[in-house]
Amino acid sequence: MFKSSIKLFKIFGIEVRLDYSWFIIFALFSYYFGFFYFPGVLPSLNAGTLALITIITVILFFASVLIHEMSHSLVAIKKGIPVERITLFLFGGMAQIEKEPDTPFSEFIMAIAGPVASFVLAIFFGIIWFFTRGYALVEEPVKYLAIINMVLGAFNLLPGYPLDGGRVLRSIIWKSTGNLERATFIASTAGRVLGFAIIAVGVFFIFAGNFLNGMWLAFIGWFLQSSAQTGYRQTVFETSIKGIKVEEAMNQNVVDVTGDITLQELVDDYFMKYRFGRFPVVEDRETRKIIGVVSINDVKEIPREEWADLRAGDVVRKISENEKVDVSMEVSEAIKKMIKNDLGHLIVMSGDKFKGMITKSDVMHFIKVRSEFH
Ligand SMILES: [Zn+2]
Repeated sequence: MFKSSIKLFKIFGIEVRLDYSWFIIFALFSYYFGFFYFPGVLPSLNAGTLALITIITVILFFASVLIHEMSHSLVAIKKGIPVERITLFLFGGMAQIEKEPDTPFSEFIMAIAGPVASFVLAIFFGIIWFFTRGYALVEEPVKYLAIINMVLGAFNLLPGYPLDGGRVLRSIIWKSTGNLERATFIASTAGRVLGFAIIAVGVFFIFAGNFLNGMWLAFIGWFLQSSAQTGYRQTVFETSIKGIKVEEAMNQNVVDVTGDITLQELVDDYFMKYRFGRFPVVEDRETRKIIGVVSINDVKEIPREEWADLRAGDVVRKISENEKVDVSMEVSEAIKKMIKNDLGHLIVMSGDKFKGMITKSDVMHFIKVRSEFH
């Protein structure tokens, strides 16, 4: 969903990106500050100063959002959880934290770090506000920044998962029940209720004549309730595959071919017969040492009249490290690898021996069958 983004810079090893949807909120904020808020509180300003103040305020606001996300991320890294990137988007910021925390305590402190950062920023801007009273040019922007950071911290503390407060709630239930799935269920149900409540407030605003703010709240509410649902499903899925190795979930009945068969044989006896998109090519049937993969697209690129002369070994494509996975790897890691490299399958190896293939549907199927016996 958030792939359409541009890279800004890298800090503490974390990539900071702007999603295209961020430009909408950037434009809305600049419009609001530049044409309504600052002209209202600072009526004597000329256009140039007004533009400058607007830009500085909007940048400081997004820097505040970034610092909030950065705090979550730095605690995560400290807890040994890698953070790949932070993306600023329509509804604020999102840190791409590679996995869920292992303990309720890690979750609690990771979650609380963001709102704490926002409150510290609110105090920081509040102090500047206190000492610059009377200098309207500084006072007005820092006053707004102090308030907005306060609101940001408070909103994120609302107890609905996946908001920070919902994560805090989850960590507390998790700690007291010892059951992460149950804790996620309760916290995400709270998140959905909260989402629908925010939508209701939004609709009320719309009917009260405050159309823009109402629409905005309704969007935020919808986003919250749908993320709560996805987050819960994700946790159930992760809990159900925890500890399962690739070896258990992979498909072992993969048909392999040897490099010496002709493409014509490959098409007639394999692609037409088994209707798989690709076949692993092995050196020989005994050792099953893998040479590479031949896919239907590779063969289609070659003119038909050459199929009788060319052999599978001539068109075989080497397997990159991204496409390989060891039998002993956890399924959850294998799925992450597929997603990261945008692949639908992985070739399962044991050393340099071909063992089978694993796809997302193999994993789903495995979980389904297994759950029927539990
Ligand atoms: Zn947060």
